[in-house]
Amino acid sequence: MVRTGKDYYEILGVSREASPEEIKKAYRQLAMKYHPDRNPGDHKAEERFKEIGTAYEVLSDPKKRDLYDRRGQAGLDDIGFEGFQNAEDVFSRFGSIFGDLFGDSFFEGRGRSARGEDIRLQVTIPFRDAALGATRRLEIQKPAVCSTCHGKGGAPGSPRTVCPECRGSGQLQDQASPFGGLFGMNRACPRCRGDGKVPSRPCPTCQGAGTSRQKAALEVRIPAGVKDGTILSLRGEGAAAGPGSTPGDLLIQLAVEPDDRFERKGNDLVLPVRVMFTTAALGGEMEIPTLRGRAHLKIPPGVQTGTMLRLKGEGIHPAGGTPGDLLVRIQIDVPKTLDPHQEKLLRELAKTIR
Ligand SMILES: [Zn+2]
Ligand SMILES: [Zn+2]
Repeated sequence: MVRTGKDYYEILGVSREASPEEIKKAYRQLAMKYHPDRNPGDHKAEERFKEIGTAYEVLSDPKKRDLYDRRGQAGLDDIGFEGFQNAEDVFSRFGSIFGDLFGDSFFEGRGRSARGEDIRLQVTIPFRDAALGATRRLEIQKPAVCSTCHGKGGAPGSPRTVCPECRGSGQLQDQASPFGGLFGMNRACPRCRGDGKVPSRPCPTCQGAGTSRQKAALEVRIPAGVKDGTILSLRGEGAAAGPGSTPGDLLIQLAVEPDDRFERKGNDLVLPVRVMFTTAALGGEMEIPTLRGRAHLKIPPGVQTGTMLRLKGEGIHPAGGTPGDLLVRIQIDVPKTLDPHQEKLLRELAKTIR
């Protein structure tokens, strides 16, 4: 149920005295603006689209509008009114309103059939793939268009006959709203999915569904710098729903394995390095691992535990972002045991420092 808490008149931007024509006009303008095809992947726009669809559903129906005017949301609750759950419901209900705005081809492409479901899966990737970017081959099982009937649902060679449900019109008049006809609110026939014709014999492979579970291989590009929990959205790679339908999306949530050397801080990498106390005091040079290979690190004399030495540009270079650095965190090592000679030297040194 869509519970926005907002006033339906406010949602459509009309006064409480607005005429049905004014309401319809306001709805069309807003529906065009927030149309999912104009805002691909924008979930906020889709929410708005459902919200204005729900508002229009109430205010375009004199009975519901009257109930709402007198008793607000409570009045609608009493008659069991529920708003739109998804954008496709809005299409199947008000599709004909878009029809004359976008032209027939638009209506056919979008309005007449359901969209397939989104498929969600989690993929674990190594730290290096997340940091540097990679291409991964995935094999998934998903409902795909049946290859026997090409999604049409009919046995090969079987003739198509007039749909008994809609008698070939592809549309059903909505019985729930007595004024539906006035505004041209037909919905696509669920039996033939707006086609007007149905196969006389169902396809033996998919039993007429038009889809079957199939193995699909795909290459997924992981952009450099992705973080743990990032969701990659592959449009149209989800489940197919049936003849002429739009497939859902494939949503891949990435789980990034931690690295045993580098720790990520934004686009910087932190590498702990142990330095012998003599080197720390005298300064020196050492070789360290980097994300892309190895590098020489200059250790300044007198370096302290916890000092961060910065190697510019040796961090993560995210696609379209600022390259990070490698931060070497110094930890000073003290030998656990000394041989007699070392001990003697150290005692000499200690005298000079104290
Ligand atoms: Zn039909
Ligand atoms: Zn089939």
